[in-house]
Amino acid sequence: MFDLTIGSSVEPGGRVRYELGRTNWEDRRIPDIRNPSATVQIPESRMVDVVILGDGYETAAQFESQLTGWLSGFAKLAVYDTFAGAFRIRALYEPSDAPASTARTSFYRCRIDDEDDDQISFDDSWWTADDTDGQVFRDRLFVAVDSFAGVNLQRYPADLDLGDDNTAIDNDTLSNVYRNLVVCMFVRTASDSNVSGMARPVPRPDPDDHRRVRVAFGAHRIHEFSHAFALLSDEYIDKNRTQASTRVDHPSTSVLTLSNLCHTTTDGDIPWAHLGPWGRIRRQASGTDPDPLVGWLWVGGHGRYGNVWHSEYRCLMNGSHDNFRFTQVQEDDPTANADGTYTEETGAGLRDGDRFCMWCQEIVTIRILEKTDQLHEPGDPSDLGDAAIEWWQRWEQGLRNEYWKLFDVPSQIADVEAMYAAMSPGARGEPLWQSDLYGVYDEAPDKPTNPVADIGDDELFALLL
Ligand SMILES: [Zn+2]
Repeated sequence: MFDLTIGSSVEPGGRVRYELGRTNWEDRRIPDIRNPSATVQIPESRMVDVVILGDGYETAAQFESQLTGWLSGFAKLAVYDTFAGAFRIRALYEPSDAPASTARTSFYRCRIDDEDDDQISFDDSWWTADDTDGQVFRDRLFVAVDSFAGVNLQRYPADLDLGDDNTAIDNDTLSNVYRNLVVCMFVRTASDSNVSGMARPVPRPDPDDHRRVRVAFGAHRIHEFSHAFALLSDEYIDKNRTQASTRVDHPSTSVLTLSNLCHTTTDGDIPWAHLGPWGRIRRQASGTDPDPLVGWLWVGGHGRYGNVWHSEYRCLMNGSHDNFRFTQVQEDDPTANADGTYTEETGAGLRDGDRFCMWCQEIVTIRILEKTDQLHEPGDPSDLGDAAIEWWQRWEQGLRNEYWKLFDVPSQIADVEAMYAAMSPGARGEPLWQSDLYGVYDEAPDKPTNPVADIGDDELFALLL
């Protein structure tokens, strides 16, 4: 049973320190991925520290209402609930004389968008800037982080070699970044109790200290947290549907470089193909069976439209912005205006607050196991980049079977397919399977032509056992 209690202790200066759901993590136990019916205790040095701070909160009560929402949102995701024993979640209230604003008079001096008091600013890389406000922001952020007893400052190596070829995750994403520490910075303004957010790496204030922490700013709390912690990309379309992605798939798949997006349509190169209709559970429309929709190529990602796909219609990592709801044909688009034109930022809301798509759930599991060193075995390469490639092979060749048992993935897929089968998002009530927002994979040149027989969940489990 997930513990939703929040314990607090008052400190000098009006500060209040909190522990969130302590009984979830005090024993440091998570499922044993090699034997999912048992648990393992992870060393304290491999716990994931989540440090929650707040800027612009003038009373502790204002901050605490945000903490309550964060913890209940975290518990709703099956993967965080299952692995709650790995996340040591603590928070600090620091009184602020003023709400956050463009004037930057709040305690941490987080910068708010020039035109929108409900939005954190994306401008001028203010979180890394050398001006006075930028320095104060980083000084105070790291004083707060360092004030937590035993905070885990393990980091990814400075010489980690993940390339820099315009992939979702590269050297700049992880080198010198804290491996087991994520900061959440709630941000209150005069008009909003926690603004629309973003996730960014923030360097320590000393310019000679290159260590960085990934910070989830603002609301959409678990969405931003999952950017910061699990390196997941947005799955929505933005920028008025005009910008195609220039990213490419990482040339070397490892547990560090996995992405929830892909940039190819060729079967054999789709990272979530095992979840799709041609994957481990073969499925197709026949008789009363609905068309399968989990694991095809769904258009869009990281705000771009074109040359980028994600794995399901809906996910916590999706959103609204400029999403199509049913069709990419403008005059038939339910999110378009009556005359067929389209207004920016009126797209379809495709976020599930309480559910990751099946592929994001698997990636988050892998991230947790990587950071807690559960994928490691004696004799693995000492270089983390090399080890991460072996861990990915270990996952594909065996540990994924255990993951399927742990989450009962066949049942999850059946439930999600049933959810999609009941949706009719078209302008004239057309069912989701008639949508042009997804496509099947292009066949790889060397793909065998004989179809594999459909198998049921029970038979699949028999194979897995
Ligand atoms: Zn997803």
